[in-house]
Amino acid sequence: MKNYSRYAIGALKKAGYKITQQRQTIIKLLAKTDKALSPYDMREALKKQKYEADVVTIYRILETLEKLSLVHKVLAVNGYIRCNTEKPDDKNPKCHHYLLCKKCHKIEEVEGEDISKLEQKIENEKKFHINSHYLEFIGICDNCSFKQKND
Ligand SMILES: [Zn+2]
Ligand SMILES: [Zn+2]
Ligand SMILES: [Zn+2]
Repeated sequence: MKNYSRYAIGALKKAGYKITQQRQTIIKLLAKTDKALSPYDMREALKKQKYEADVVTIYRILETLEKLSLVHKVLAVNGYIRCNTEKPDDKNPKCHHYLLCKKCHKIEEVEGEDISKLEQKIENEKKFHINSHYLEFIGICDNCSFKQKND
């Protein structure tokens, strides 16, 4: 996303959150990272910039950003990555899915097929209230399969 930092800070303000230095620092880090990072990875990355932050604080900030769909958890790699969609869908902000390449570990966000119908069906059948879901597709990216063929 272009201007991710500006967008994320705007979204935080709109939701009534204060723009603390810590939140700003994490947002800037997310803005320039294309890989999913764990709170521990983030602490290490910030240390290199001479910025001390503890893991619990980082984790809380990530949870807030996740609530606003500004970051997503990537379960397969146990990390967080910024939302990369130009216009997050307000109606269904959590419905962003990931493609993960096993070879180069590239992570690409794809906008969700609407699976709210499936959620509805499960809720009705199981009497289970769903808050969110994660969907990740693991495989080989175009670039890597091209290389494989030409090796
Ligand atoms: Zn997203
Ligand atoms: Zn989804
Ligand atoms: Zn790949």
